[in-house]
Amino acid sequence: MINRLAIIGVGLIGGSLALALKGKGAVNEVVGYSRSEDARQQALDLGIIDKAADSLAEAVSGADLVFVAVPMGAMNSVFEGIADYLSPEAIITDGGSAKAQVVAAAKQCLGEKFKQFVPGHPIAGTEKSGPSAAFPTLYEKHRIVLTPVSETDSAATAKVKAMWQLTGADVFEMNVEHHDTVLAATSHLPHVLAFNLVGMLAERNDCDEVLRYAAGGFRDFSRIASSDAVMWRDICLGNQDAILSLLEQYHQGIKQIEEAIRNQDGDYLIDVFSRAKKARDSRF
Ligand code: NAD
Repeated sequence: MINRLAIIGVGLIGGSLALALKGKGAVNEVVGYSRSEDARQQALDLGIIDKAADSLAEAVSGADLVFVAVPMGAMNSVFEGIADYLSPEAIITDGGSAKAQVVAAAKQCLGEKFKQFVPGHPIAGTEKSGPSAAFPTLYEKHRIVLTPVSETDSAATAKVKAMWQLTGADVFEMNVEHHDTVLAATSHLPHVLAFNLVGMLAERNDCDEVLRYAAGGFRDFSRIASSDAVMWRDICLGNQDAILSLLEQYHQGIKQIEEAIRNQDGDYLIDVFSRAKKARDSRF
C-alpha cells in the first residue's frame, strides 16, 4: 500500500498511473505537480489527484513514492528541485522514454538518494497528451521496463515492480543501454519516420488534395505523427547515438530500394518486402 504518491507531470503517463492505482485502492493519497497551473487544475477536476501542490518541494514532502513523468528535457530540473525535499525512505521512479540520459540526470542531482531511484519506462501510450488523455487501463497487459543500475537498491526495485504489477502490467528488467537500443528501433525511429513523412506532405501545395485520399494504411502509419513535438524532440536528443545509428542503416535501405525501383529490379523488391511481411506476420 502506498500512503502518499507524488506524481510530477500529471499528463498521460503520470495521470494514468495515478488512476490505475486509485482504481485498485492501492494508494491513500495522490499529490500532483505539473508546471502548468491549468494541468494541475484539470488533474484535480478529473479526480486524477487528490491534492495539487504549488511546488515540487510541496509535492514530494512526505511522499513514500514519487513518479516523475515530465518530458525528458525537464527531468534534470525536476530531480534538482526535489532532491532536498524527499523523505529519507522515499522511492523515486520515472517514466522517461530513453534511460541513459535520465539515469545520468538522477545520478547528478539526487546524491545519496540515487540508490532509491528506480529508472523505468512504460511501453504504453497514445498520441494524446495532458491530464485529459489519462485513463486507468493504459498499462493493462502492457510491458513496463525497469532499468536498475548497480547502485539501485534491490528493495526499491521490488517495490516499483509491485506497484506496476498492480496496474495489470508485465514488468521486465533490462540494462540501460539495451533498453535505449531496443526502443530506438521499435519506437523512436518509427516516430521520426512518421513525423518526416507527414511533415513532407504538409509542405506540398496540394497537401489537402493529397491527404483527402488517404486511406487506412496512411492513417496507421501516420497516427504517431500526432504525438507531442516537445516530448519527441527530447527523446531524439536524449537517445542521440542509438537513433543516429538506426537512421544511417535506414538511409542505406531506402537507397537500395530507390535503386531497385529505378532499375526495375522487381526481384529485389519482392525479396525485401516478403522478408518484412514474414517477419511481421510471425510476430503480430
Ligand atoms: P504529457 O505531456 O501528457 O504530460 C507531461 C506533464 O508534465 C504535463 O502535465 C506538463 O505540464 C508537465 N511538465 C512539463 N514540464 C514540466 C516541468 N518542468 N516540471 C513539472 N511538470 C512539467 O506527457 P506524457 O505523454 O505523459 O509523457 C511523460 C513522460 O513519459 C515523458 O518523459 C515521455 O518520454 C514518457 N513516455 C511517454 C509515452 C507516450 O506514449 N506518451 C510512453 C511512454 C513514456
